[in-house]
Amino acid sequence: MNLEAVFANPGAALPVNADFSFAEEDTLFPETVHTAGEVRNRSGVVTLHTTFSAHISFDCDRCAEPAVREYTGEILQTLVTQLNGEEDSSFTVLPDSQLDLRETVREELYLQLPSKLLCTPNCRGLCPGCGANLNNAVCTCIKQIDPRLAALLSLPEDIEETP
Ligand SMILES: [Zn+2]
Ligand SMILES: [Zn+2]
Repeated sequence: MNLEAVFANPGAALPVNADFSFAEEDTLFPETVHTAGEVRNRSGVVTLHTTFSAHISFDCDRCAEPAVREYTGEILQTLVTQLNGEEDSSFTVLPDSQLDLRETVREELYLQLPSKLLCTPNCRGLCPGCGANLNNAVCTCIKQIDPRLAALLSLPEDIEETP
């Protein structure tokens, strides 16, 4: 989108209500991603402020089961046409006043992605012994106590110090 008029006019605003599909490039985003917000010039400071709502489709990091989850977030960027000497990565520089909204949304979707994707927040994962999915199956491991641990456990609890 061309932001020339917004950059030139304090008080000016442009709505950012757009839908994007990333399904063809990444199966992580199977459905349309919606954005709702605006680009606004407040006393010469131009900001992009929008929310995004999407769905993500993935295999759970703990139990490996496929899952689909809602994924929402917020994008807040300060847009400038040039940096005035400062080396500040908190500004998004648009030399030709053109904002590639699709690319911006795509980048933020990956940036804000949680480092662990779980089917449910309290997914119980797989048993390291038998591989059972502990969310819906019973562990079949035979509970055996390590003989060395058993020896420790049989120690008397209170060892009285004798003078
Ligand atoms: Zn899981
Ligand atoms: Zn097990």
